[in-house]
Amino acid sequence: PREHGRVAGTSSRLTVLAGPTAVGKGTVAADIRTRYPQVWLSVSATTRSPRPGEVEGVHYHFVDEAEFDRMVEAGELLEWAQVHGRHRYGTPRGPVEQALREGRPALLEIDLQGARQVRQNMPGAFFVFLKPPSIEELVRRLVGRGTEDSEERARRLRTAEVEMAAESEFDVSIVNVDVHQATDELVSWMGVPSPAPVGE
Ligand code: 5GP
Repeated sequence: PREHGRVAGTSSRLTVLAGPTAVGKGTVAADIRTRYPQVWLSVSATTRSPRPGEVEGVHYHFVDEAEFDRMVEAGELLEWAQVHGRHRYGTPRGPVEQALREGRPALLEIDLQGARQVRQNMPGAFFVFLKPPSIEELVRRLVGRGTEDSEERARRLRTAEVEMAAESEFDVSIVNVDVHQATDELVSWMGVPSPAPVGE
C-alpha cells in the first residue's frame, strides 16, 4: 500500500480535511481540539471578523486585508483561497513545517480550493473528504446553522453542490453521521490511537 501522507524530508505526515460547506469540518476540528490534543491543528489566517466565542490564535488569526496581502506576497502561506466569494483564508506555512519537523501528526481543515493547492505544494499529504449522509442533510444543516442570511445560504448551497463532485480527488471519504465517530475515523487514518472509552 501507498505510504500515505509522508512529507518529503520529514518522518511525519500531513493530513488535509476538506469537504463541502456546512458538512461539519469545523465541528470535527473542535472535537479534535478537545479529545485529541496530541494532534497538531493548523490555525488559519482569515480576513473575516471573529464570531462570538472565537478566540484569536485558537480558532483563527484574524487579520486585516493589508496584513493578508503582506502574508501572500511574503510567501508565508502554504495555500490560501477566497471562500464563498468573500473573505480570504490561508494556512501559515511556518507552523505546519515546524509541526512536521517535530514529528507531530498535523491536520489542516480547509476548503476544497485550498486542498487542491496543498496537493500541488505537498504531494505526499493525505487527503480526507468529509461528506454528509446526503445533499438533503447538507441543506438542512446549512439552513439550521442560522448564521448566514438567505442570499449567503443560497451562495453556499451552490458551492456545496459543486464541491460534492470533488470526492473522487481524495484518498478516502468519511461520512459525517456522528461527530465523535467521524473524528475517531479521521484520527485512525492519521495513525493516532483512539482514547480509551470512558466509564463502564
Ligand atoms: P468559517 O468562516 O465558517 O469559519 O469557514 C469557512 C470556510 O473556510 C470553511 O469551509 C473552512 O474549511 C474554510 N477555511 C478555513 N481556514 C481555511 C484556510 O486556511 N484555507 C482555506 N483554503 N480554507 C479555509
